[in-house]
Amino acid sequence: MVKGRFAPSPSGRMHLGNLCSGLLAWLSVRSQGGTMLLRMEDLDPDRCKEEYAVQVARDLEWLGLDWDEGYGAGGPNGPYRQSERSDIYAAAFETLRGAGLVYPCYCTRAERLAVSAPHPGEGEAVYGGLCRRRAPEELAELAATRRPAWRVAVSDREISFVDGLQGPVRENLVQDCGDFIIRRSDGVYAYQLAVTVDDGLMGVTEVVRGRDLLASTPRQLWLLEELGLSAPAYTHVPLLLSSDGRRLSKRDGDLDLSVLREKKSNRELTGFLACLCGLLPSPEPLSPTELIPLFSWQKVKRESLFVTSC
Ligand code: GLU
Ligand code: ZN
Repeated sequence: MVKGRFAPSPSGRMHLGNLCSGLLAWLSVRSQGGTMLLRMEDLDPDRCKEEYAVQVARDLEWLGLDWDEGYGAGGPNGPYRQSERSDIYAAAFETLRGAGLVYPCYCTRAERLAVSAPHPGEGEAVYGGLCRRRAPEELAELAATRRPAWRVAVSDREISFVDGLQGPVRENLVQDCGDFIIRRSDGVYAYQLAVTVDDGLMGVTEVVRGRDLLASTPRQLWLLEELGLSAPAYTHVPLLLSSDGRRLSKRDGDLDLSVLREKKSNRELTGFLACLCGLLPSPEPLSPTELIPLFSWQKVKRESLFVTSC
């Protein structure tokens, strides 16, 4: 049984890019007769609010994207707000710790940058493992003054998978990624751990999301394996860029749903998105349900999509 998911972060109103990934995730599931799940990724208490979550759900409904399980719908794998799943993440954290893979990191931001090698191609930093090599006395001293973040020690292995749209991907975790944080120093579990545990325990079989998360997938595949959870298939869809080449973000207020809903009907917006990502030759208005028979991954563009007007 196919099960896909929407996993929005309710840190503001959704924008066109979130909606485009959501539409493709939904079309993929619905065209296979699968189950759709909605999970609120509200881990960050400083940025996420319940009122935004309510609005995200309303905006999805407005567009005509429904879900069978999750936030507001219930189901056997809840709770469906990450902020209510700390016990579940704690158990996974202990499993990894029991396997000897977790260690405290006391580095300040400046130290982290100083001991990091640049990530080939992505401007991301690879953590060099400084805290893994600290002597016990030094660790005891640091523990008395600072609260650590927690990292997993990755295996020196190559992780490979075939992305549904981007093709084969290969990464050596030590060289390309390094030991990564699974729990912040304020106690909040990190995205990488939470998303992996949730996709695994909620029985998600396919993940469709923005290409900005392609680089996270090897980490998540490795964590799934270490936790004994089965891995979904991954498809990373193109990001939407503004005409000057910047990635759309929540800061592009003119393309968020509050403005778009004033300018366009739900069918107009669906048609516009479908045309943008390659499913329709012209932006004729239609509903997500009417798009199902026209959907095929073969038609969907792989490269970034420029949004010139909407
Ligand atoms: N919550 C993430 C976001 O809104 C998506 C995570 C995922 O799809 O894995 O960017
Ligand atoms: Zn450190």
